[in-house]
Parts: sequence; C-alpha cells; structure tokens
Amino acid sequence: MNRVSDLYPDPAPVYAKLIDGSYMAIPKESLPPLVLEPERSQEGFKPDVNAACYCTSGKPFGLCCGSGEAIRLPPYGLFMFENYLDADTVKNLREFADQRDAVRLMVVDDDKSTADNIVRVVDERRVTERVDMGERQQEVNDIMKNAFIDLADKCVGKSLDWIEEPNLMRYREGGYYIRHADSENFDADTHTWHRIIDRDLSMLIYLNDDYEGGELSFYNLNYQIRPRAGAAVMFPSGNRYMHQAETVTQGVRYAIVSWASVRGVSKIATRPPETVILLG
Ligand SMILES: [Zn+2]
Repeated sequence: MNRVSDLYPDPAPVYAKLIDGSYMAIPKESLPPLVLEPERSQEGFKPDVNAACYCTSGKPFGLCCGSGEAIRLPPYGLFMFENYLDADTVKNLREFADQRDAVRLMVVDDDKSTADNIVRVVDERRVTERVDMGERQQEVNDIMKNAFIDLADKCVGKSLDWIEEPNLMRYREGGYYIRHADSENFDADTHTWHRIIDRDLSMLIYLNDDYEGGELSFYNLNYQIRPRAGAAVMFPSGNRYMHQAETVTQGVRYAIVSWASVRGVSKIATRPPETVILLG
C-alpha cells in the first residue's frame, strides 16, 4: 500500500491555534510567486528548520512558516478569509444540507488510475460524505466558481482553466480524512510523491463551526486551523500543503470543497476531466 501515513506516522506537533478573527492574511507583494508546477517525482517538502524559509523572508523555516508558535500568521500559501460567504447564505445552505441525503466520498485509486482516467474507491482513509444538494447544486457551483476566480486572482495573480464540481461535504461524528495531498500520492516504496490529478489549488468554504474536533492540520507547516462558518481557505494542492481533516468528536461539520486547475501550469492529462466546470 502506498500510504503517506507510512512515512508520516502520527506526530504530536505544536499547532498554531487560531482563536480569534486575526487570521485573515493576504500575501505581501514582496513574496515570490507560488510554485504550482507538478514534478514527476519528488521526495516531498521536508525542510530543515534552520534552512531559509521557502517564503524567502530570509528567516529560518523553523522561525517562519514552519514555526511552532502557538499563535501566528498562516504559513505562506495558505490563504484564509473570514466571513467570505455572508451569514444568511451560510445558514440557509447548512439548514438545507441538514435535510438532505448523502453518499460516501471516495479517494483516487492510485493503482488503477491514469492521468486520463481517474478511478475512485471507498477507503478508510476518508470517512465523509457528499450531500445531495439537488436543485441547489448549481448555487453551490456558482459560489465556488466565483470564490475561486476571485481568490486565485487576489492571492496568486492567476486565471483558471477549470474547477471540479464542488462537493458539499458532511463529516459526521467520527468522520475524518487522514493526511494527504490533493494532487499527489505518496509512493512508500520509492519514498516519492507523484502527481495523480491535475489540481493546482484547493479551496474549502466552511458552513458551520458548531462542532468539536474537525480541525484542518498542515503537518509540514506545524499549523492547524479551525475556520469559522463563512470562512474561505485556499492553498496549493501539492505535498507541501499535505493536510488532515481531524476527527469530528461532537456534532457535524459542513464544508464545500473543490479544486482548480491554474492556467499556464503543466497538466499530466491530455484533456480536462469530464465532470469539471470549464472557465472561460
Ligand atoms: Zn516563511
């Protein structure tokens, strides 16, 4: 089995706990462009804490984007916007979702997938479900499309080729998604990451915060977030931003998720996946 948990066993990192509204961050103009190009094979993001930080601040990684400080700004590339979606829309979508049926979400099957033919499988790595939004799926699509176009422009200065049809996810009590990168799988035999799907940016929009657990942890960056209802969170889909949705210990967590392909970034597939929403 090629599982990232084979190389990254359960650590007990010191996560930054974001407890107030101070975490909205927009990248400084002096910061470098984010590297979104996939690599065929790579050992993954494992910087020495004393090495210069990837954000080019000049500070050591361990005192910058990899800091263990309890409260700090997000590491570079993790963009968070509070109150991105208005409270009425958030409440309304959540209440609707509460009434709807759902199906189990799957993961990409690394053994059976090719770049042009993604095969998905139910797996214990991911225990969450997709809410059937019925006639309101279009509304969810539009929210995500507009958010992606806006934030990719603001944060990365890029246009997009497509986004995947968003999922409104429901994590019930006990639900989780173990550490993973959204565009890459880890090969435990060769200890390398490789791109499996053309995703450059990942986005989550949170629809509630009245649950326990369910934090989003970025293991490489010593960073954990627990966004409030209405927050939008965007980050590159590669292994630097490997993350885990922690187990919901009480209540239900709702979030909309999707992934975008950035214009100009190399693709591994010869065509967009069939189900994507193409952007002009
Ligand atoms: Zn840094």
